Amino acid sequence: MTSVLITGCSTGIGAATAGELVAHGHTVYATARRPETLKALADQGCRTLALDVNSEESMGAAVAAVENEEGSVGVLVNNAGYSQSGAVESIPLDNIRKQFETNVFGLIRMSQLVLPGMRRAGSGRIINIGSMGGKLTFPGGGIYHATKYAVEAISDAMRFEVQGFGIQIVLIEPGLITTEFAHAAVASTDNLNDGPYAEFNAKVGEVTAGIYNSPMAKLVGGGPESVAKVIRKAIDAKRPKARYTVTPSASLSILQRQLTPDKAWDYMMRTQFPVPKSN
Ligand code: NAP
Repeated sequence: MTSVLITGCSTGIGAATAGELVAHGHTVYATARRPETLKALADQGCRTLALDVNSEESMGAAVAAVENEEGSVGVLVNNAGYSQSGAVESIPLDNIRKQFETNVFGLIRMSQLVLPGMRRAGSGRIINIGSMGGKLTFPGGGIYHATKYAVEAISDAMRFEVQGFGIQIVLIEPGLITTEFAHAAVASTDNLNDGPYAEFNAKVGEVTAGIYNSPMAKLVGGGPESVAKVIRKAIDAKRPKARYTVTPSASLSILQRQLTPDKAWDYMMRTQFPVPKSN
């Protein structure tokens, strides 16, 4: 059993993972930028801390608090993330920076902060929550997908770089998971309703909401507990795999993208999304 620090536990995959791990005997530090959202997890036995992955001070304080109690962080789960959806040209650059600040720089900085302690301890594991969206791209998802492609590259490089210190890097690639994620993704297009991409951005929101509410999501997707179980497996495994896809939606979509030439993929996308054009 080990100590596990998880980012983004107010809802969804982070909350389910904290619950799953504490129920199986791990010492869990569940964190959120609004710590008042962690009451139910505290009642289940999690220790709770404030942690905003956009704040150097907040990240440093949370890691120091765990190291004070445990010596080092046993496992870091880099989970905090969201989707800023919409056509690339239509998204204000500040929103794009924020998206990378949370999904990429937050993950990198958290890793940098826990690694010295893990190296001193001669052991540790970092579990990065990527996405099937790190292997394929939907129109209107360019910015979010870019962050998840980045998580793939960072995980692949770091897996090699830290192995000699007794530290493993594991990448989790969930597919369609019913959480607050889809609501946040749809809401992120709300202010992008002007100009040449207005109709397209509205459709991106509509398609996103539609997919997550569809019978297909029930058939090939899953709930946050399905990801939590795989994360527990990756933590408990003596020799974890480099990456774990979660739900058939992830494995089928990744395979479909690998087998589909770009032209055919674009054709398929045109059946789902309107091509933005001048009027
Ligand atoms: P969710 O229910 O919306 O949860 C996202 C979590 O990230 C929330 O706790 C949120 O906290 C937190 N967060 C956002 N910005 C943060 C910040 N600056 N600092 C700390 N926490 C922050 O969505 P989810 O589905 O569980 O998403 C978790 C991870 O899974 C994300 O990395 C997402 O990209 C990935 N993923 C999700 C899916 C899916 O279909 N749901 C698929 C593939 C990958 P607040 O409540 O404070 O906003």
